[in-house]
Amino acid sequence: MPTDAFKAVIIGGGPAGLTAAYELSKQGAPVVVLESDPDYVGGISRTVKYKGFHFDIGGHRFFSKSREVEGLWTEIAGPDMLDRPRSSRIYYRSQFYTYPLKPFEALSKLGLTESVLCMLSFMAARLRPIPEPKTFEDWVSNQFGKRLFRIFFKTYTEKVWGMSCSEISADWAAQRIKGLSLGSAIKHALLPKGEPKDRKQVVKTLIETFRYPRRGPGMMWETCAEKIRQLGGKVMMGRKVVGCRFDPVSNMWSVTARCASGNLEEYRGEHVVSSMPIRDLVAQIEPRLPDPALQAARSLRYRDFLTVGLIVNDRGRFTDNWIYIHDPGVKVGRVQNYKSWSPEMVPDARFSSYGLEYFCFEGDGLWTTADRELIELAKREIQQVNLAASADVVDGVVIRQPKAYPVYDDAYQQHVDTIWKAIEQYLPALHLVGRNGMHKYNNQDHAMMTAMLTAKNILAGERKYNVWAVNQDAEYHEAGAAGEVPTASPFTVPTETAINSA
Ligand SMILES: Cc1cc2nc3c(=O)[nH]c(=O)nc-3n(C[C@H](O)[C@H](O)[C@H](O)COP(=O)(O)OP(=O)(O)OC[C@H]3O[C@@H](n4cnc5c(N)ncnc54)[C@H](O)[C@@H]3O)c2cc1C
Repeated sequence: MPTDAFKAVIIGGGPAGLTAAYELSKQGAPVVVLESDPDYVGGISRTVKYKGFHFDIGGHRFFSKSREVEGLWTEIAGPDMLDRPRSSRIYYRSQFYTYPLKPFEALSKLGLTESVLCMLSFMAARLRPIPEPKTFEDWVSNQFGKRLFRIFFKTYTEKVWGMSCSEISADWAAQRIKGLSLGSAIKHALLPKGEPKDRKQVVKTLIETFRYPRRGPGMMWETCAEKIRQLGGKVMMGRKVVGCRFDPVSNMWSVTARCASGNLEEYRGEHVVSSMPIRDLVAQIEPRLPDPALQAARSLRYRDFLTVGLIVNDRGRFTDNWIYIHDPGVKVGRVQNYKSWSPEMVPDARFSSYGLEYFCFEGDGLWTTADRELIELAKREIQQVNLAASADVVDGVVIRQPKAYPVYDDAYQQHVDTIWKAIEQYLPALHLVGRNGMHKYNNQDHAMMTAMLTAKNILAGERKYNVWAVNQDAEYHEAGAAGEVPTASPFTVPTETAINSA
């Protein structure tokens, strides 16, 4: 390896990129992380600071079925991790419903007639389920009945995705709310809490406690970046990758990054680990991938997201971590209450900070609305949903998050398969990791696992582990206690899988 070259050039300083860099650095491999953001590491899991208040992009629960991931979180930021109770509700037609739904509470708040209709619709779904449900609507209707689907799933899901539930793949429902049905919710409501038998069957949606760094998820990733630097690795901020060229003669990659000044810098490496969105990456790879892979990458879609952070006088109106806003009368989709995630998210206990989450597409009306107007909208809507009086809002800040969600439409899986197969065939030293890096609806732990396995592959000099299998066994993550794994493997993937078996 030439002296000016790195073992790996890592694109993106989010959980996946930093995990790969940390794991490689610990083994003495020289690495550089190129992060486009000038200030923050952590990607979607960063924590934005404003006047001493800390804003989480979404609200990040630290929970994993993987001992390795839980262990890594402890290794990086153990003393700063809090154990937090989870509390969340749904706001619908001026009522608050406990979430995960408590069937008896939900039915009593819906009223007798609506409850009877919901139960009849659930029974109809049980008797005549939609065979092989392909869409989110079909999948949820099978589990809850059409009527409950319309009340508790349709509006929020359509706010999140900006498309009809009949266009959203059932994969998303299966991954997000796997194992949850009206039947399992009733069972959960009836069985005493903490019973080991029940705990084993707990589904992700029902997790009641989680860990959280005391100053938000960004604290984990800032500490990780610091540790990488201490180990000799480089974490370069404000470096947007705009080109990736592979030279088959030297077997080396040249990665071009644009700095804030507009200058271009070049980084050479034996391997490239990319957590940037596949669509952007594939467009800049040289030599070009075959046309079907280019076309597939252009077809991938994303959903974007903005948070309006409000600083309010704390009147103790609510203590939930977050509230889903199913009501179609407001644009806001979810409200976070950061002080409930950790008291240290606010610098002064007289105030609370809320995050009103609006789902949008980059460039659409909401995305391009001026910050001042968005703050006014949030002030109106927080009052409309009865969580604070507009007059109690003392300040606000807008945080935009492009590509928050990789879209799971009918064709995404086929596109992703086409791309990764082309990369495996033509560019074995290019490794895709993470959420948008693999176009997978990965949480931090899965994003990290793909990076941990990739680091092992790089150190081994061969693709011993199949990173694409991580999510296929997501079930392990979705159904059980933190740190528990159902097999002898510390990973939620088979060890040393043949790469073509995914
Ligand atoms: C609303 C919401 C709530 C969530 N809640 C949870 C939760 O409760 N628990 C949980 O574990 N996970 C949660 N997640 C998921 C979590 O945010 C992601 O799994 C995680 O951040 C993915 O890490 P990553 O490194 O793959 O990608 P990212 O976090 O997207 O990081 C990628 C990084 O690459 C950088 N980048 C992109 N393009 C370039 C380029 N061209 N050049 C250089 N750098 C580039 C970006 O700036 C970014 O820093 C949530 C996500 C959302 C949207």
